[in-house]
Amino acid sequence: MKVILPNGLLDGQDLFNIVVVDELKGKQQNYLANRDLVVGNIGHLPKILSDCIQSLESETGVKWNGKMEDAVEKLSVGDLETLLIAIRHNTYGERFYFEAECPHCQTKNKNLRVDLDKLETKPMPVAEMLDKSRLTLILPKSKIEIEVKPLFLKDLFESIKIVKNKQDELVTSVIALSIRRMGDKMKVTAKDVEELPAMDLLFLKDKLEVIRLEGTIDSDIQIDCSNCGKEFSSKLDVFSSDFFDPSKGSTNTPT
Ligand SMILES: [Zn+2]
Repeated sequence: MKVILPNGLLDGQDLFNIVVVDELKGKQQNYLANRDLVVGNIGHLPKILSDCIQSLESETGVKWNGKMEDAVEKLSVGDLETLLIAIRHNTYGERFYFEAECPHCQTKNKNLRVDLDKLETKPMPVAEMLDKSRLTLILPKSKIEIEVKPLFLKDLFESIKIVKNKQDELVTSVIALSIRRMGDKMKVTAKDVEELPAMDLLFLKDKLEVIRLEGTIDSDIQIDCSNCGKEFSSKLDVFSSDFFDPSKGSTNTPT
C-alpha cells in the first residue's frame, strides 16, 4: 500500500515522502505478543515500522538507500502515526472499532467506528519545513533564543520514561523534548528548562500549543456520547500495541 507522508525525510536535495508499506505478518505478531516490548513500553514500534516499510522514495522516484531503521529514527511523529495507521489498514482493512470514555459522564462508549482511510493528513510544505524562523522564539524575560522542534521516535521513548519515573520533573522534561536549541546549547535537558523564569516557561508552553511543528494526520475522533449526548473528542492511540489488536483499539480522551 502506498502512503504519502505529511512531512517526509529531507536529505540533500530530495524529499523522501512516498512509502510503500507491507502488512503485518507472523514475525510482527511476535513483537506484539512480547510483553517486555509492549507493556508500558513502545518497543514494538521501531521493529514494526522498519520491517513494514518496503520502500521510501521521492516524488521523482529517487529511492532512499539507507537502512530503514535509520529512516524511522529521522521521521517525525506525524509521519510515524501516518505509517502505523496505514499498516493497520493494510493488515485488517479500513474499519477500526474502539471504545472511548465520555469526559462529561464517564460512560464508556463502545463499538465506535472510524474508517482509517478517511483520516485526513495535513502536509507541511517543504518551504515551510526549511523556514527555521517560524520555529525560533525569543523568551520575553531572559531574552534567550529558543528553537523548537517536532518529536521523533527517541522522544516518544523518553516521554514514556519521564511519565513512569520522573513525575516531579514532568512538565520541564516534556518541554525539553520539544527544544532543539536554547541559546547556543544544543542538548537541552529538564535541568535547563528548570532554570528558566516562570514567565518564560509560560510563554514557551503557550507557543508550543500554537506553532505548527510538523505535518500531521488528524486522528482526533469526534464522538457524541450515547448516554449524555454531549460531544467530545478522543485521539486514536496508534502508539499502543492495542492499536494492532484485530478486534479492538484504544484512544486517549483528554480529561
Ligand atoms: Zn457522556
